[in-house]
Amino acid sequence: MALNLIMLGPPGAGKGTQAERLARTRGIPKISTGDILREAVHAGTEIGQRAKAIMDRGELVSDEVMIGIVQERLDRADARRGFVLDGFPRTVAQAVALDGIMTGRDPLLVVDVEVSEAELVRRLSTRLICDDCGANGASGDTECGRCKGQLVQRADDNEGVVRERLKVYHRRSEPLVAYYRVRPTFRSINGAQPADRVFDDLAAVVDAAVATAAKPGAWR
Ligand code: ADP
Ligand code: ZN
Repeated sequence: MALNLIMLGPPGAGKGTQAERLARTRGIPKISTGDILREAVHAGTEIGQRAKAIMDRGELVSDEVMIGIVQERLDRADARRGFVLDGFPRTVAQAVALDGIMTGRDPLLVVDVEVSEAELVRRLSTRLICDDCGANGASGDTECGRCKGQLVQRADDNEGVVRERLKVYHRRSEPLVAYYRVRPTFRSINGAQPADRVFDDLAAVVDAAVATAAKPGAWR
């Protein structure tokens, strides 16, 4: 069975880091819509130029654009053998579209990464990323562990924009938890632990869910 995983949770929950690690250990692609948009901004494509102003304000790029990007990406051959989606869906309309894209594929596994609001603000305003490759910086470092690029604050990680992103999260993305919670494929984990512990919990819920799904009829 293909592992088709989506990760929910507020900005700063650590979804990106965990998604990356899980995807690497399972040999499937991690698909981050934030990374795809930042690459488009960097490359100066038309989508990138339009997305930049929206991202800098902490708002959401339109559902239409995002659904198109994800549809195209999930149709590529590597994603047919499973994927970890990070940053999508972010609205109920995106979730409905994703259900359509998933028709005829193995079911979605949904993991919600829970972290308190106070912890999120603290994390986001101190987070650094690599100016060249976009990797998250380790705390205390000034250069990227992956490519030696310079670590900088992300344009949308200053305090005002962080508060706006959290507001947008509550209004537009938190309803996704209610949308998915009723499914037998929904799990939540505690994101307010050291990253290694979060990863252990993530791997454990994924393994348990996949074992359940392997039983005939379990998720249908
Ligand atoms: P974080 O997880 O830290 O909030 P991301 O890197 O996932 O940030 O996304 C950065 C920005 O990219 C978002 O604030 C938003 O403007 C845009 N974006 C990313 N994914 C989506 C999406 N699925 N729908 C709309 N906008 C998105
Ligand atoms: Zn780098």
